[in-house]
Amino acid sequence: MTALKKKFSCPSSVCEEGAQMLGVVKNDGTVSILPVALPIDKEFVQRSKDIPDIERRFRFSGTCLEKGCKQWTGHSCGVIENVLSSFTPKGKAKGLPECSLRINCRWFSQEGRAACKACPLVVTDVHA
Ligand code: SF4
Repeated sequence: MTALKKKFSCPSSVCEEGAQMLGVVKNDGTVSILPVALPIDKEFVQRSKDIPDIERRFRFSGTCLEKGCKQWTGHSCGVIENVLSSFTPKGKAKGLPECSLRINCRWFSQEGRAACKACPLVVTDVHA
């Protein structure tokens, strides 16, 4: 009998049906993580299709595709690795953002608390 492989969520995904809205990009370019992610349905996708680069206004989560994603290094997510390689936490350590994704989050699973501290600084670039 084979063990079931845990499915992780990608916290920097695209706006599509079945995704979740994870955060809102603020005027200062940082992301306000929503304590409870909001489900994205077909109607939301339809209504927002004329908004250019909607992923630069909101953060969405979806299923981590692992080797189906070009950011996958072969054993981990290269996005958060790149973010953390240039991230220096500022000020006194504060608590982590309240986030409903944490239990399944690829970044948190991989990098722990450091991922959550850097997470609000990430704006998704779907063209990258
Ligand atoms: S890195 Fe942390 S704050 Fe960001 S989505 Fe994952 S669990 Fe939430």
